Amino acid sequence: MSKLNRKQDALDYHANGRPGKIAVVPTKPTNSQRDLSLAYSPGVAEPCLKIAENKDDAYKYTAKGNLVAVISNGTAVLGLGDIGPEGGKPVMEGKGLLFKIFADIDVFDLELNTKNVDDFVRTVKLLEPTFGGINLEDIKAPECFEIERRLKEEMCIPVMHDDQHGTAIISGAALINACELQQKKLEEVKIVVNGAGAAAISCSRIYISLGAKPENIVMIDRSGVIRKDRENLDALKGEFATDRDIHTLEEAIRDADVFIGLSAADVLSGDMLKTMRKNPIVFAMANPNPEIAYDLAVQTRQDVVMATGRSDYPNQVNNVLGFPYIFRGALDVRATAINEEMKLAAVYAIAKLAKEPVPESVNLAYNINNLKFGKDYIIPKPTDPRLITEVAPAVAKAAITSGVARAEIADWEAYKDNLRK
Ligand code: NAP
Ligand code: MG
Repeated sequence: MSKLNRKQDALDYHANGRPGKIAVVPTKPTNSQRDLSLAYSPGVAEPCLKIAENKDDAYKYTAKGNLVAVISNGTAVLGLGDIGPEGGKPVMEGKGLLFKIFADIDVFDLELNTKNVDDFVRTVKLLEPTFGGINLEDIKAPECFEIERRLKEEMCIPVMHDDQHGTAIISGAALINACELQQKKLEEVKIVVNGAGAAAISCSRIYISLGAKPENIVMIDRSGVIRKDRENLDALKGEFATDRDIHTLEEAIRDADVFIGLSAADVLSGDMLKTMRKNPIVFAMANPNPEIAYDLAVQTRQDVVMATGRSDYPNQVNNVLGFPYIFRGALDVRATAINEEMKLAAVYAIAKLAKEPVPESVNLAYNINNLKFGKDYIIPKPTDPRLITEVAPAVAKAAITSGVARAEIADWEAYKDNLRK
């Protein structure tokens, strides 16, 4: 398909029929006058009174417990940058669509017309009664860090900025499996992180939680290697500053085991890749074009394990492997947060799933024969029907054991059966 056709197809897809991609659908009978008098006045007063007495009954009588807000101010939309809240709305509707089809979670997408952190935080905080959870989306760094931190502190429902943690969780799972395949230990690998934005900082933090050593990580931004002696170093980047005497990607990548790209297209050359250690791991995740083209990387180094953000090559690091199921698990135990324990549980569940035999439906969906754990399959495919039954329960269990769950799941097999439906 030509690029022009693809563009027009995308516009038509959104414009045809009812504009946009999502709608609100009633979930109760509405056929008779009686139904309507139950749904609205006078019947509706009964659940109102119950909830007024006990706020938690909102989970029993309203859609709150299955409703997530996808909230953005449009300042860092996909690879498109600051295109404004209206500009970001198709993405937020799209996120709603993914929540629905993968985890049957309903979404209101909310585009906020502000770049002011205090206004953003105050607005989202006021929405707490409506939602079971908050997915922050496409908010630029560094504001995204403060917004998420404050909302997590101040709200009693789960809040997650998916651009940070979704990417961290999926690439963390991929890194565990890539290390296993390349016979490297996460505790020992030398990691170069190119990029120091929302995704890079959050990925580096989770790799450390998974076992990587902070002193083995070198982070690079547009000004080069982030060194401790840099003037005006901000606190976030300072967390990963090195005192090694290196200044450029070219110097940093020599003898590294792992390259993590969350920056810009084509910054890692074939020559640089050649200087990495034996059995290198390259996650070139800049979208839409990676830090090194897939074909160039695998031609340059036959011993590489390579992942990108793209669906047209093996090993796509795609957040959709995580967020629907992380929120599913969190909502199902009425968690008050999505904490580290829950994120790590998601990492391990996703990593483990890639090692299980692949269902035929997944092979068929990708027109691949006999997909199995190996260099070209280090993380599950997005259409894998087992993601929901593996990741959501793992997250829910972690919420319970870490003490943030407000509801129990008595029968885990029944819960899984229910998720399969
Ligand atoms: P961001 O907050 O804007 O951060 C971008 C970072 O990259 C900044 O730290 C910037 O440096 C740095 N950078 C840009 N060009 C560079 C270069 N030539 N050399 C070194 N560093 C460079 O963006 P983000 O949300 O973290 O996303 C970063 C990239 O990762 C995007 O391409 C995005 O699409 C991709 N991404 C992919 C996935 C995925 O595959 N699942 C998920 C998330 C993000 P300064 O700090 O100096 O400006
Ligand atoms: Mg996003």
